[in-house]
Amino acid sequence: MNMIAKKFPTAAFIDGQWVTSAKTFAVTDPATCAEVATVPDLGGEDAGRAIDAASRALPAWSAKTAKERAAIMKRWFDLITAESESLAQLMTTEQGKPLVEARAEVAYGASFIEWFAEEGKRAYGRIIPTNVASKRYLTIKQPIGVVAAIAPWNFPIAMITRKVAPALASGCTIVVKPAAETPLCALALAKLALDAGVPPGVLNIVTTSDAAAVGKVLCDDGRVRKLSFTGSAAVGKILYRQCADTVKKLTLELGGNAPFLVFDDANLDLAVAGAMASKYRNAGQTCVCANRILVQSGIYDRFAASLVEAVNKLAVGPGLEAGNTIGPLITKEAIERVETLVAEAVKNGAKVLTGGAVDPAGPLFFRPSVIGGVTPDMSIVREEIFGPVAALVRFDTEAEAIEIANDTPFGLAAYLFSRDLSRAWRVAEKLDAGMVGVNEGIFSNEVVPFGGVKESGLGREGGAEGLEEYLEVKYICLGAIDE
Ligand code: ADP
Repeated sequence: MNMIAKKFPTAAFIDGQWVTSAKTFAVTDPATCAEVATVPDLGGEDAGRAIDAASRALPAWSAKTAKERAAIMKRWFDLITAESESLAQLMTTEQGKPLVEARAEVAYGASFIEWFAEEGKRAYGRIIPTNVASKRYLTIKQPIGVVAAIAPWNFPIAMITRKVAPALASGCTIVVKPAAETPLCALALAKLALDAGVPPGVLNIVTTSDAAAVGKVLCDDGRVRKLSFTGSAAVGKILYRQCADTVKKLTLELGGNAPFLVFDDANLDLAVAGAMASKYRNAGQTCVCANRILVQSGIYDRFAASLVEAVNKLAVGPGLEAGNTIGPLITKEAIERVETLVAEAVKNGAKVLTGGAVDPAGPLFFRPSVIGGVTPDMSIVREEIFGPVAALVRFDTEAEAIEIANDTPFGLAAYLFSRDLSRAWRVAEKLDAGMVGVNEGIFSNEVVPFGGVKESGLGREGGAEGLEEYLEVKYICLGAIDE
């Protein structure tokens, strides 16, 4: 087994116990395609046992005060922070992102635990002024119950803590199904949770290569009152349907097709820096990645030239090697997808300004690329690229930019670069998106609400809104108070 993986568990985690199985699946390092470890390949029955455990643990965990839960969560946060370097190495090993980004993700992921531990103390209800003399009205907030979480591979720690932290803080218990590509970070988190004193059953991790079977059990079981999912729109829609019979509350984060608008009056250096941060982080494998870079005619040539210059300074190679800034894509299928999108764009008249092909660093490395002369009808800007390829589309007027930007069923992130405050405000209001970065390429953190509109999903994660997702409002009416 890989040296880094040896430091952490490779068994699943149910009811406070490490669970092994005769059937396993392999986790590989996308930089080398070598096997890192094997983990249990659990099935629907195991998922049922995890729900049993979470149900048993619920009464005692939800009965604790938020302050008591916070004390445990803060210990968990401290343990993650103390282990941050080895967690970052583990993440780079199974996911591929450069070590500097993995370190940043460990800190980002841990921040949800610290922040929600505190925010859980502020789940205030309301006293509502009465409209009948003999009655008084109030609301309290209570944990929704057992929660299921299904997580993707692109942020192996943060996409889990962003769900687990508000769940635990509000008094819920949870069953997590990590992505098959990156289960090791999830199991490492569970080990540190156990060490921190998270009671058995409060957090469960079900590793599986059969996501559909485990997902079905999580959706069908009426004891699970909420599902939080981050992943593709196609799978999100399946889960939405599957949750109908038990009328679960849903948080869905289903990716986007982020427009990145650069107006003639933008600060060019700022816009290029924003595009670099938004587009090439995690080799372009984030759901808020700029997917369509719309550039106004007056600045288009200068922006394209500066972007190409910046992109040519990126260093492609294994994330564990210092200095590399672009790691591998997650799978061969991901490479093929990006190759197809680029080939089709070129066939339809777009031009490769830099990159455009697989890098000699290895079969899963794609050269950071800029494609110019893209038009809004091309697949490369209609689908999520999920690779280090910037697609530049030229526009003339503000109205045209907004029309192109909103011409998609998705609406997660959007970006705009302009020095005109009136325009920035006006355009930000008109963009169909859950989040807008104005003169900013990176905006996600633990204190703000993350989520999308239209087919990008339901609900918000992070911030005060992120806690609400795990709470139910109970209205209590006190009658006959004048007796
Ligand atoms: P991606 O393209 O990012 O891999 P997916 O939506 O396929 O997006 O994966 C996100 C998460 O959803 C992963 O944990 C994956 O295992 C899980 N998943 C995939 N298919 C299903 C399904 N039918 N039911 C439940 N979970 C699924």
